[in-house]
Amino acid sequence: MANVDDLYEDEFRDSISTVDEDGKRIWVYPKKPKGFFHKWRLVLSIFLLVLLFAAPHINIGGQPLVLIGILERKFVLFGQVFWPQDLYIFAFTMILLIVFIILFTVVFGRIFCGWICPQTIFMEFVFRKIEYWIEGDWTHQKKLNKQPWNREKIFKKTAKHSIFLLISFLIGNTFLAYIIGADELWKIQTDPLTAHLGGFIAMIVFSLVFYGVFAFLREQVCTTICPYGRLQGVLLDKDSIIVAYDHKRGEPRGRFKKMKFERKKIKEIVSIVNNVFMFVLPELTSEMELN
Ligand code: SF4
Repeated sequence: MANVDDLYEDEFRDSISTVDEDGKRIWVYPKKPKGFFHKWRLVLSIFLLVLLFAAPHINIGGQPLVLIGILERKFVLFGQVFWPQDLYIFAFTMILLIVFIILFTVVFGRIFCGWICPQTIFMEFVFRKIEYWIEGDWTHQKKLNKQPWNREKIFKKTAKHSIFLLISFLIGNTFLAYIIGADELWKIQTDPLTAHLGGFIAMIVFSLVFYGVFAFLREQVCTTICPYGRLQGVLLDKDSIIVAYDHKRGEPRGRFKKMKFERKKIKEIVSIVNNVFMFVLPELTSEMELN
């Protein structure tokens, strides 16, 4: 049977670092990243962003590069058209993909999350970059959020959220282009509003959803909504390559051997280390307590 100290030591598994004891959200202020890997992530992100925005406008043999035509029940990949009767190909591909994702994650951890996921790419390499540009590094952001609504704060917040809205509108339009095709999207953008009211409403809804995600929801998408994020607990094992604090190796630390492990002290230590991770890898905070 586990003794009381063991139970206290395992308590860090019961909560995530972005929620306080009362269940309220702790807003993450990540430190402005720099370094070798960040540089290469930036290069890859630019390439993926260009591809993401360009793909619906690229045609191969008269068909778009990618089309997820749920409404028309027509799907196109690299110019090849798939109809509902081809569903078995989709099902087979999905099974292969899921098995691949599971095996890949068990071995290499959250490389997809850190390097390829659109959520990370938009958050870290578009929206946060703008935030650093307008509001400064994390200490300045924190200070700005705490200060009263003076001229500086109103100016910075208005500028930031206007740019966020504009980019969200671009993302919303691109998302729509993947569903209805670039030509249909162009019609919605250029024809009178009443001719495509449904399309126009979809455009606004998508834009607002993306704005909400990147301006407010942020890393909460990974910890509460994304199925891949939620499954991490069963996809990783102790040999997976992940960026996380190894509680078993790290605790107890030297100076604590002399004293009793009190519930409060352990919480403080874990919280400090978690905060360090939170500064640099907010999207991965849910996994930092794995071991
Ligand atoms: S948890 Fe999901 S949304 Fe978050 S980075 Fe990973 S794949 Fe993307």
